[in-house]
Amino acid sequence: MARHLITSAIPYINGIKHLGNLVGSQLPADLFARYLRGRGHEVLFLCATDEHGTPAELAAAKAGKPVAEYCAEMHDVQAKIADGFGLSFDHFGRSSSPQNHALTQAFAGRLAEQGLIREVTEEQVYSIADGRFLPDRYIEGTCPNCGFDSARGDQCDNCTKQLDPTDLIDAHSTISGSTDLEVRTTKHLYLRQSELKGALADWIESKKDWPVLTTSIAKKWLNDGDGLQDRGITRDLDWGVPVKNGTEDWPGMEGKVFYVWFDAPIEYIACAQEWVDAGKGTDWESWWRTDKGADDVTYTQFMGKDNVPFHTLSFPATIMGMDQDWKLVDYIKSFNYLNYDGGQFSTSRGRGVFMDQALDLLPSDYWRWWLLSHAPESSDAEFTWDQFQTDTNKDLADVLGNFVSRITKFCRSKFSEAVPDGVAFGPAEEQLIADLTARVQAYEGFMDTVEVRKAAAELRAIWVLGNEYLQANAPWTTFKTEPETAAMQVRVGLNLIRIYAILSKPFIPDASAAMLTAMKTEDGAWPTDMTVALNALPVGHAFEVPENLFRKITDDERAEWAERFAGTRD
Ligand SMILES: [Zn+2]
Repeated sequence: MARHLITSAIPYINGIKHLGNLVGSQLPADLFARYLRGRGHEVLFLCATDEHGTPAELAAAKAGKPVAEYCAEMHDVQAKIADGFGLSFDHFGRSSSPQNHALTQAFAGRLAEQGLIREVTEEQVYSIADGRFLPDRYIEGTCPNCGFDSARGDQCDNCTKQLDPTDLIDAHSTISGSTDLEVRTTKHLYLRQSELKGALADWIESKKDWPVLTTSIAKKWLNDGDGLQDRGITRDLDWGVPVKNGTEDWPGMEGKVFYVWFDAPIEYIACAQEWVDAGKGTDWESWWRTDKGADDVTYTQFMGKDNVPFHTLSFPATIMGMDQDWKLVDYIKSFNYLNYDGGQFSTSRGRGVFMDQALDLLPSDYWRWWLLSHAPESSDAEFTWDQFQTDTNKDLADVLGNFVSRITKFCRSKFSEAVPDGVAFGPAEEQLIADLTARVQAYEGFMDTVEVRKAAAELRAIWVLGNEYLQANAPWTTFKTEPETAAMQVRVGLNLIRIYAILSKPFIPDASAAMLTAMKTEDGAWPTDMTVALNALPVGHAFEVPENLFRKITDDERAEWAERFAGTRD
């Protein structure tokens, strides 16, 4: 038994995520966690909400709520939806937790002690009426280039010109509307990432087994242009982790908070503390400190490609800079984007299916199966309703669902609702055992290396084996002349249902549970020896015919859903 730490990129707090976000991190991370648990390994699977920074403040203001209250509510919303999709986090934490506050402050203090923090004086716009510095996106005015009247401090959304807040005509605060703005100097802390460039380059270079998508993005950020730059870790904001040097005040940094990119990944560690403090675990350090037991932990991270720079460079720079035996990631699985029907998902235009809407249409297994079997691994992928209908109807209803229904109903009508006896296995069964053995080994291989699409294809092929076996041996025909042979064939089929339940659980946990319930067994042991596995449900073992596992999506539904989620056009 091995120990596996798994984290999914933590979703930002402001709103419900779409299916592309889901398949880019949380869902494949859950697949991997469920698989490793199924193989008997010890797994700690963590995720959280990313709650600090300007967008959270803006979203809360828009909702008319204090930001802390807004975040608490949205965390519960996201947790509930994650649960609806069967995401099996051991803990779903919050980056605003007291544990993360303390840990982020401790990290900053230690990095300063290591000589890796420097102070930088900058000029920034200050709003006298609001009594605060304004981030660029809190400043609006008229674009000097095109005359657009709500250009932002960093960019004009109309003509796309990059701007400085001081370029704007009639610049005003979006908080109060005040035009009483002035440029003031302010001091910020920078993490000296450039000092760690060599160590990071060597570390990335040593990761020969990482996906090219991960290493190519890392190397680009490391080397392109002037290479890896020092990066500000503080902001003039109210909402966030107050800047402190460990538990001490940081002179000159009063009223400032840490920049969200610095505190968010530290939440991966704080989340393990939250897990212990919630009474779900006992020893978080054995997962995160190599001097306290984590040297035998394999740590795998999941994320969309936009998050790769933070996870390959910024967070490792933080960890390496600490020089304190903190666990570094062992494997980073990154994903391209899932597009929606010829374009992009869009929150503002209501385009595409969002996680809460998906669960209103169909149970989560339909979505899990389709998204994972089309995971955007080697390139961007696309969701179309046509493909979704075709694939789920075929794979889930025709192949898996039909197999389960056929064999259980046939057994009930010709024998009873118990595993029948019959003759011993013959050549057809020996062949089935050989085929299953080879395919299950291939499936395990793809799951071990987190090749999601290939694993899904292999699982589908394993389901197909059962149908082919029934088709070729036709117990409904055999029954007329050799009922004892038909009984054995049905016994094989019933045992296949249990095997399918176990192998399929990482992809479709609800259907898996329904299959085990129908087979009236709690024996979910991973099938390692197929001869043993095909005899696991003994002769006379009772079962029941389950409800249809999957229904088909109709053409009317497909058309209606395509229309409903098309969004408003530009
Ligand atoms: Zn403009």
